[in-house]
Parts: sequence; C-alpha cells; structure tokens
Amino acid sequence: MAPETPSGTAPTGRPCAICGKPAVQRFKPFCSARCADIDLGRWLKGSYVIPGEPVEDMVEPVPKRRDEEE
Ligand SMILES: [Zn+2]
Repeated sequence: MAPETPSGTAPTGRPCAICGKPAVQRFKPFCSARCADIDLGRWLKGSYVIPGEPVEDMVEPVPKRRDEEE
C-alpha cells in the first residue's frame, strides 16, 4: 500500500526555485510558502525597479567626438 500523501504536498520532482529542496505541488515551483514568499518579494522588488517598458532613451549610442578644430 502506498503511503497516504496529503493533497497539495506531493513532491513535484523539481527542486525549489529558491532553496533547491524538493518542491511540492501546493507551492510549486517552491518547497514551502516561505520560499514562495521570498520569490514574490523578489518579483515585486524587481517590478518596482524595472519599468514596464524598456527605456532606450537612456541608452546613448556611441558618443561622437566633436572635432571642431578642422
Ligand atoms: Zn524552498
């Protein structure tokens, strides 16, 4: 007989994206709510810093030398 596995805690076969422990179905791809929370925090932090659209205006092309001594 197979041991009873509480629904939602079955291992997914994948390592936790945060700590590398076996992730469980309920929190996949994480092993626990804690790791899921850590990832969420990172995600929110990232989205706070990174704007929705790429700001290409801030990236200047190759700076041109102004040779006015010609
Ligand atoms: Zn984890």
